[in-house]
Amino acid sequence: MIAEILSIGTELLMGQITDTNAQYIATRLAQYGINHYYNSTVGDNWDRLCGTIKTALERSDVVLMTGGLGPTDDDISKEAAAAVMDCELYLDERAKTEMEQRFSRMNRKMTENNLKQAYLPVGCVPLYNKNGTAPGCIINKNDKIIVLMPGPPKEMRPMLDEQVLPYIGQWCDTTLFSKELKIFNYGESALASTLKDMLDGQTNPTIAPYAQMGEVLLRVTASCRTAEEGERIVRPVIDEIKRRVGDYVYSEDGETLQAVCARLIKQSGLKLAAAESCTGGMLSSSLIDIAGSSEWFLEGAVTYSNEAKNKRLGVDMAVIEKVGAVSREVAALMAEGIAKTAGSDIGLSTTGIAGPGGGTAEKPVGLVYVGLYINGKTQVKELRLSGDRYRIRYNATQHALDMLRKALMTDDK
Ligand code: AMP
Ligand code: MG
Repeated sequence: MIAEILSIGTELLMGQITDTNAQYIATRLAQYGINHYYNSTVGDNWDRLCGTIKTALERSDVVLMTGGLGPTDDDISKEAAAAVMDCELYLDERAKTEMEQRFSRMNRKMTENNLKQAYLPVGCVPLYNKNGTAPGCIINKNDKIIVLMPGPPKEMRPMLDEQVLPYIGQWCDTTLFSKELKIFNYGESALASTLKDMLDGQTNPTIAPYAQMGEVLLRVTASCRTAEEGERIVRPVIDEIKRRVGDYVYSEDGETLQAVCARLIKQSGLKLAAAESCTGGMLSSSLIDIAGSSEWFLEGAVTYSNEAKNKRLGVDMAVIEKVGAVSREVAALMAEGIAKTAGSDIGLSTTGIAGPGGGTAEKPVGLVYVGLYINGKTQVKELRLSGDRYRIRYNATQHALDMLRKALMTDDK
């Protein structure tokens, strides 16, 4: 299979932007052993664009195009590719709905030209875009494939990695085998430095880090002939990452933190209850998100006021008055109190200052205590979180889950 990259945009020809898309795609093609003999750039001009696509299709099997999928009149890549491939365009309902939802989330009005982006060539494979408005698509006709992807690199890269390469892989001798390592609370730059030599020297498998809220996803991908061979190629690399990063790695299969916790609790046969202050139910909700949680989740209490902490959990008012509700002591008493009153083996608690108001020099916004009572012992973790109210509450929830995960893993041994 021969692939060709076609970058579209007059701004590229004028030297206003650097063609980083071509470089990214070329790197991936090389990594996956796909032949790549030509790489062209063409402006937003109908005749020259159609001519270049035709030429590319004469000498290559797959043409990977980026750019020119925007809403304005000079964005003509899709129309030109459809014309060369002799395809009509149709209005793709899912693309339209996703676009409408995106605009309403951003509180912006969708205009008529935006709708142009939801038209796709008949018979194509749509490439829905979770990082921007323009969907891409794959046209596969008469043994030739054209892939259309948006210009912005942050939209193009995940679309290529997650949708396009697995599709093209079907026609290659090689296929792709991926493992998704999820790493909590290690920090993206710390991870980059811990794995520097591995990231710099990567060939097969490749290691691609993606930062997410409070965690990093590392996709380790092998180019291989079979899944067994893929597993053999990625295994030593994953083992080495785990050796260096330790138990910050909580999953190899892209599982969520709450799913991992649910699995471990189920295995342990223990029952859990949660007492939440600043997370306000988020922790219970994320555990209850997992199907089957009724087997081990007994109760979640949102004990927001001091009175509730006292009345519902039996936290001594004198302690609250002495050290404050946001304290190590109260987090511990909350975890113990919920376990005792709910009759569970595990009690998990959160108390903190989610902001934006309510912080002091001594107890700033983002100060959170997470308490865990398990096997008759109580531990408390102090966190200094940053970000807005939602982010602090979300990260407090994730830290509570992570603490639970680590305790259950130790318990296992
Ligand atoms: P377009 O889809 O042509 O409207 O491009 C939208 C934006 O994507 C441009 O303004 C650039 O910032 C970026 N872009 C387009 N093509 C490329 C490319 N080949 N390499 C890097 N960035 C690009
Ligand atoms: Mg453009």
